[in-house]
Amino acid sequence: MLDLALTPDQKQLVETVRDFCSREFAPRIAADDRAVRHDPEIFAKLASIGLPGVCFPQRYGGHGLDYLSLGLVCEELEYVDTVYRTVLSVHVGLVGCGIYTWGTEEQKQRWLGPMARGEKLACFGLTEPNAGSDVASMQATAKRNGGSYLLSGQKVWVSDADTADFMLIFAKTDPKAGARGVSAFMVDRAASGKALRTEPIEGRLGIHAGDVGSIFMTDLEVDEADRIGDEGDGFKVAMGCLDNGRYTIGAGATGTVRACLDASVKYAHERKTFGQEIGRYQLVQQMIARMARDYEICKLLYFNVAWMKNNGLRHTREVSMCKQYAADAAFNAANDAVEIHGAYGYSAEYPVERYLRTSRAPIIYEGTREVHTILQAEYALGYREDRPMKKSLPKYEPD
Ligand SMILES: Cc1cc2nc3c(=O)[nH]c(=O)nc-3n(C[C@H](O)[C@H](O)[C@H](O)COP(=O)(O)OP(=O)(O)OC[C@H]3O[C@@H](n4cnc5c(N)ncnc54)[C@H](O)[C@@H]3O)c2cc1C
Repeated sequence: MLDLALTPDQKQLVETVRDFCSREFAPRIAADDRAVRHDPEIFAKLASIGLPGVCFPQRYGGHGLDYLSLGLVCEELEYVDTVYRTVLSVHVGLVGCGIYTWGTEEQKQRWLGPMARGEKLACFGLTEPNAGSDVASMQATAKRNGGSYLLSGQKVWVSDADTADFMLIFAKTDPKAGARGVSAFMVDRAASGKALRTEPIEGRLGIHAGDVGSIFMTDLEVDEADRIGDEGDGFKVAMGCLDNGRYTIGAGATGTVRACLDASVKYAHERKTFGQEIGRYQLVQQMIARMARDYEICKLLYFNVAWMKNNGLRHTREVSMCKQYAADAAFNAANDAVEIHGAYGYSAEYPVERYLRTSRAPIIYEGTREVHTILQAEYALGYREDRPMKKSLPKYEPD
């Protein structure tokens, strides 16, 4: 049964991360964002308190906490800024949980271990210039070359592309087979030489303190042992990874809603018009009430998904709702928070203008609003149903 009470370990974790974020990240984020300055120490800082291994068993270098703990951490990170949550989302949610689900024992030791211990940062290369929502139309290829593959093609809009050590890359082993022709590979940048090049994408609306970039591959040799899943499993691997990434986005967006609520309540008490504080006006209260309500709804949505993950239940539909609802709620909260702050909301003097810019991306990535609407409608209409999965995220077992 879904239990909303946090365990003592989870409470301690929330306190530790909240305190850490308020000391290490909060004091610098406004300046980094304004200067469009990527903070290269983000991952090392997250690693200094063990977050890259939060939900992985100790035998893989993790801390053996459950999946709700991962969500709680994401909420706390994004309370300060999306950029911190994004690093953990991609590293733990997309790539780490992907290897934990699909990797062989050897692959878990080789890739997941260094990731969970915080020694290596990972990114997730799925999107291409001409393939985003329609990922099966990707053009990157992986050609057999004896006991290895040669990967060629381009990936774009990859979070941490320019800084990651490890990359989970998707490419076609059979270009004529559509989704069934996609395979997944782990790539080690250090062993890639000139066959791999990355560069940052500039001129972004938000996530200024983060790294989003492109990956270029030309006959990049990847050993057969570094293929994740069988040949042709890549699409299924990607979809499984997205079920985990979307959970971290939903939990993170919950943090943005709370940040907007706190900032708005504070300002509504401070600012006076027509002789009284603006919090007294019902139209302002309406915006604050929606943030308060959405915070509770978002929390319930991600707690529910966490419970399903902990119990090894399929949750593609529920995590889609969680991600889509929470990402929209965060953007709406940020928009209303700007409104409540009046002209000051339009200024970098207050954090809410940053929340408005950074909360837009989570609506787009890991499935746009439209993609999730279609998915949920298809479930409701009976056009889509869950078939048995070849591999699913291991349910939570205490170490
Ligand atoms: C900040 C940021 C970070 C990202 N990080 C990563 C990452 O780490 N790794 C990675 O692989 N990718 C990443 N992405 C890419 C992201 O996942 C894609 O941008 C997203 O999937 C949408 O693809 P697209 O941009 O090609 O849009 P398109 O697929 O071209 O869609 C354009 C518009 O058409 C709509 N549309 C498309 N198809 C349909 C349809 N069938 N019905 C109705 N409407 C439709 C879409 O909803 C959208 O509004 C990131 C993107 C951003 C902005």
